[in-house]
Amino acid sequence: MPTEFPTQAQCVIIGGGSLGCNIAYHLTKLGMTDVVVLERDKLTSGTTWHAAGEIVPAVLGSEWECELYTYGRNLIAGLEEETGQATGFRQVGYIQPADTPERLEELRRGAAFMRRFGIEMHEITPLEAAERFPVGDFSDTIAAFWYPLEGRTNPVDTTQALARGARSRGAKVIEDVSVRRILTENGRAVGVETDQGRITAEHVVIAAGMWSREIGARAGINLPLQAAEHYYLITEQL
Ligand SMILES: Cc1cc2nc3c(=O)[nH]c(=O)nc-3n(C[C@H](O)[C@H](O)[C@H](O)COP(=O)(O)OP(=O)(O)OC[C@H]3O[C@@H](n4cnc5c(N)ncnc54)[C@H](O)[C@@H]3O)c2cc1C
Repeated sequence: MPTEFPTQAQCVIIGGGSLGCNIAYHLTKLGMTDVVVLERDKLTSGTTWHAAGEIVPAVLGSEWECELYTYGRNLIAGLEEETGQATGFRQVGYIQPADTPERLEELRRGAAFMRRFGIEMHEITPLEAAERFPVGDFSDTIAAFWYPLEGRTNPVDTTQALARGARSRGAKVIEDVSVRRILTENGRAVGVETDQGRITAEHVVIAAGMWSREIGARAGINLPLQAAEHYYLITEQL
């Protein structure tokens, strides 16, 4: 916690999840030092801590998606060395099986496109998939794609590393501060009102995840966000 609560900043970011800390990390990397992240609870306490932490591409269909994905993957892979904060990133690879001819065609088309933009993947047989992932059932698999560079990270530690990178370049990351509303003048954001006082700012970024919609609505902004249930399974060693 900084000793004094700031009263002004160039940029205030609402929300200390993966995205809020990512934005602070990148703004400070671009040279902005007067950045404040406000988190109403603890960093990652929103949805970020739930994440499985898979660093994997879906079937990407545009050049910018491929660039963005590759940038993010490389950023996370190198973050521990850069910041000194352990992230838990492990390059364990990723398998996408195709159980129908249609799915295989989709994956092959995606592969042809994504390879052009530097994403490495290889078509493998069900047997090769089973060798790489022995507990998997590939009895219905026609063929699979193997991505050797992908893996898994710890979302909490990775976010802490992003926050540490931002702090090292001057950002203030403040926990236990709730933003009540965005202050506006002439239809433009000029700061935030929090439960600990006001901060005037040139820029206000809403990075409050599934709570962004209600924060936006209080300022007359329509953010079409809807939370949806999502599942994953992590086993103990089998
Ligand atoms: C079960 C599950 C599995 C997932 N698996 C993956 C995966 O494998 N790979 C992947 O890339 N993604 C995955 N995701 C998605 C990923 O977790 C999210 O996209 C990401 O964490 C969203 O980050 P965020 O910063 O936008 O939101 P959040 O982490 O929710 O952060 C928003 C923050 O804003 C704060 N906040 C809200 N209101 C206020 C306020 N008024 N004032 C101050 N702070 C406020 C909240 O407390 C919260 O900490 C998964 C998600 C879930 C739920």
